[in-house]
Amino acid sequence: MHNLTLEHEWNEDIVDITPRCPKCQSPQIEPRNLARRLGGAIGAIAGTTSGVALAITGVEVGLLAGPVGAVLGGVAGVIIDGIVGGAAGCAAGSKLGAAIDRNILQNQQCRHCGHTFSDRSS
Ligand SMILES: [Zn+2]
Repeated sequence: MHNLTLEHEWNEDIVDITPRCPKCQSPQIEPRNLARRLGGAIGAIAGTTSGVALAITGVEVGLLAGPVGAVLGGVAGVIIDGIVGGAAGCAAGSKLGAAIDRNILQNQQCRHCGHTFSDRSS
């Protein structure tokens, strides 16, 4: 009887700490983070694209100062806004994706039976 009691308490401990597969109760689950990966990629593209759009504005402003100004304005705009926009977009996208992973998608996958489920199920 002592063994049974100990085992029972031990199992309760694990349930508290480790999320389990709702289908087979296996603790061998891993996060998929699909939205976070996708969000980072989309954010980087969107950020870079908006940076390029700003660079085009730089070209238009530069045109007022002549062709050289247009080239310089455009190049500087692409480099600076593209890098900054891409990095910021990637960070924002990752953050957004992580939030989506937590709340919407079935972010956890059981390595034992392959069942996918969301974090909030427990
Ligand atoms: Zn499972």
